[in-house]
Amino acid sequence: MRLVVLGPPGAGKGTQARRLAERYSIPWLSTGEMLRAAVTGGTELGLPVKAIMDRGELVPDDVVDQMVSDRIDREDCRTGFILDGFPRTVAQAEALTAMLDRKGVKLSAAIELKVDPAVLIERMAKRVADTLAAHDPVRSDDNPEVFARRLDEYRETTGPLLDYYLRRGELVQIDGMQGMDAVTRDIASRLTRGYSGSSPYR
Ligand code: AMP
Repeated sequence: MRLVVLGPPGAGKGTQARRLAERYSIPWLSTGEMLRAAVTGGTELGLPVKAIMDRGELVPDDVVDQMVSDRIDREDCRTGFILDGFPRTVAQAEALTAMLDRKGVKLSAAIELKVDPAVLIERMAKRVADTLAAHDPVRSDDNPEVFARRLDEYRETTGPLLDYYLRRGELVQIDGMQGMDAVTRDIASRLTRGYSGSSPYR
């Protein structure tokens, strides 16, 4: 099972991707997490990337493409993986298609979590409040100004991705405003049925 999860920041991609990873015993690959780990680890990649992430902008495609390509070449991705936060641009989607073509495998589905912007802003505020209550550090890009920029960024650059996967017949659209469990059930049943209603996904 090779999946990508698409949706605006705050749509619940991370939660659903982690659940799907567990369900199908495949690794969860979050480019945001990988980049944050590079920043925290003070690696060579981390330093220039930190400033870009703090502004809520996108890290250059070549940096992220290489990071993903190296990761999906690892043994634990042989039977599949779930990508969260990648691709974010049509160029990244084309790069992913090329990576999979080279391996002679296909994407099983691109899952889109659809959520209204007003709901996303509410969720972001709640995530910050919950993090503060737990005395955990708040992500530096979780503040209203940067969040609004990340939403704009999503509409402009990630929006066209939906068309890309729609045209390829790989897009599975899910109502992301249901409760978390209902969203998980919905995704799993769509994947079992296959989006065309015929053959199930591998
Ligand atoms: P996320 O955790 O997915 O919300 O990502 C946090 C930040 O990491 C984003 O705002 C970007 O700065 C950076 N990032 C994550 N994934 C990508 C990607 N596929 N392309 C470019 N930048 C990314």
